[in-house]
Amino acid sequence: MKTIGVIGAGTMGAGIAHVFARAAHSVILCDVEQAFLDRGIETIRKNLGREVTAGKLSQQDADLAHGRIQGSLNLAPVTECDLVIEAATEKFEIKAKILREIESLAGDQTIIATNTSSISITRLAGLAKRAHRVIGMHFFNPVPVMKLVEIVRGLATSNEVNDAVMELAKNLGKTPVAVNDSPGFASNRILMPLINEAIFTVMEGVATAQAVDEVFKLGMAHPMGPLAVADLVGLDVCLDVMRVLETDLGPKFKPCPLLVRMVDAGWTGKKSGRGFYQY
Ligand code: NAD
Repeated sequence: MKTIGVIGAGTMGAGIAHVFARAAHSVILCDVEQAFLDRGIETIRKNLGREVTAGKLSQQDADLAHGRIQGSLNLAPVTECDLVIEAATEKFEIKAKILREIESLAGDQTIIATNTSSISITRLAGLAKRAHRVIGMHFFNPVPVMKLVEIVRGLATSNEVNDAVMELAKNLGKTPVAVNDSPGFASNRILMPLINEAIFTVMEGVATAQAVDEVFKLGMAHPMGPLAVADLVGLDVCLDVMRVLETDLGPKFKPCPLLVRMVDAGWTGKKSGRGFYQY
């Protein structure tokens, strides 16, 4: 697969574009506003620079990787893509619209992957004419660093598409893990309720955010506490995922009111400069 389309140039789209460009793929990165594209491409430039400083990449390879990424404000260039990964906002209607548009533009052989954190692959693929070519490819944040890619087959996903995506993830230096299609898959069905309960713990005055995170780092050997993870993921993304889990799996996944209030206030974590910590 030579040319990869990435839809959404936010936290995840920028990271996904980064790893594909570093692995010598041409990348078309799409978003709805020039400012979002510029921010994504600037993030990639900075993160490639970090890899150069850490001695993981030569300056020449970083420049080559950066040069392989082309921005677009519409999806028209996906006609050239062998694989398109949708990494837009975690809302079913947005993903459904993008999926339909990709399908109308891309060739019959194009694989359509979604980086959704929680939405059913089968339900999304149900909207497609070529449901057998739709699959979940769930990367983790920060994408250039984290090894895991959860590979989620929809009911109709073909073996050929599954095998191609597994192989591709390995070629990126990642470790693909196959999980079944269920809300939140394995990762977020477990992680998000943990984060949500950590937020309840702060809201009810049991412990400060710092204290909750220290408990998990020192007591459970987590490299980061759940509230620092929530800030990194984005509190808006955490809330969107909890809402999908609540709708699909029931009231035990109800989002904590403090999480809702913080998102209402625009305190979405690291990307906005304020969440449980200040950045
Ligand atoms: P984000 O808010 O940082 O970025 C989303 C981007 O999508 C924005 O730049 C937005 O403008 C763009 N977008 C929205 N509608 C679009 C459209 N119609 N066409 C093109 N671009 C569009 O969100 P994110 O954190 O990067 O999350 C993206 C996806 O990845 C979500 O499905 C999320 O659940 C998933 N995900 C997030 C994380 C994480 O840690 N943040 C981890 C794994 C998966």
